[in-house]
Amino acid sequence: MSDNGKPKVGIFGLTGCAGCQLNILNIEDHLLDILGLVDITTWVMAKQENSDGPWDIAFVEGSVAKESEVERVKKIREKSDVLIAIGACATHGGLPAIRNMRDIEEMKETVYGEQTSHLDVIPIKPVSHYVDVDAELPGCPMDKMEFVRAVMALAMKKTPQVPNYSVCYECRVNENPCLLDEGKFCMGPVTQAGCDSLCPSYGAACEGCRGPIAQVNWGAEVKILKEMGATADQIRRKFLKYCPSTADMEDFQELTL
Ligand code: SF4
Ligand code: SF4
Repeated sequence: MSDNGKPKVGIFGLTGCAGCQLNILNIEDHLLDILGLVDITTWVMAKQENSDGPWDIAFVEGSVAKESEVERVKKIREKSDVLIAIGACATHGGLPAIRNMRDIEEMKETVYGEQTSHLDVIPIKPVSHYVDVDAELPGCPMDKMEFVRAVMALAMKKTPQVPNYSVCYECRVNENPCLLDEGKFCMGPVTQAGCDSLCPSYGAACEGCRGPIAQVNWGAEVKILKEMGATADQIRRKFLKYCPSTADMEDFQELTL
C-alpha cells in the first residue's frame, strides 16, 4: 500500500497496439474516481516518473511475443500481489497471435531480410501461459466500464467477475434481431458476453473478440455456419482470429471442418 493507504497499481504493456491502455486514458468520466481509489505508481504511457514496484495490483496488456517479454511478465508477477490480464492479446493471444499460423522464420525473413539475428520472437501466447493470472478482462479493446468495475472490486479486495454466458444473451436482452437469420456469420453463440452485444447492436456480426465461453460448443457453431454457406477457410479464420493460442482453440482445431 502507498503511504496514503491506497493500493499501488502498475499498468504495463507487452505486444499489442496499446489500445487497452488508451481506453483507460479515455475513461474521462471515471478517471478521477479511479485515482481516488488507487495510486498508479507505474504507467509508462501516462507518467514521467515510474516506480520499479512492488505493486498491490498489476494490469498487464498485450501478448507475450518475445523471450524478453517472458522475463518481463515473470518479474511483474513476482512483484505484484494481484495480476489482471487486460484485453484480448493478454487474455487469448489476440490479433498478434495470427502470426502463430505462419512459419515464424519465413515471416522474419520476409520483413527483415537477412537481418533477423536481433529478433527474439517466439510463438505468441497469452499472459496466463507463463504466469498465474488472478482475473482476465477480455475484449479488443477491453471494455472501459468493465475496467472501472474491476478497479472498484479490487479496491474492496474482491476478484473482478466477467459474465459466463454468451453474447447472444445480451442480444436477447437488447432485443436485437438475430444476425444469423440475416445470413451474417456471427460468433455471438460461442463468445463470452460483457460488451453488451456491441457489434450486433449496430448490425455487425460478432467477431469473437472476447474469446470463447466456458464449455463452448464449437461443433454447433460450425454446423450453423456451414449450413449458411461458410467455407472451411472462412470458419477457421473467423474462429482463430482473436484466440489462436488458447486451449479452447486447440479443441477447435481438432474439429473436422
Ligand atoms: S446476432 Fe449474433 S450475438 Fe446476436 S443473437 Fe444472433 S447470433 Fe447471437
Ligand atoms: S460483439 Fe463480439 S466482436 Fe463485438 S465487442 Fe462484443 S465480443 Fe467483441
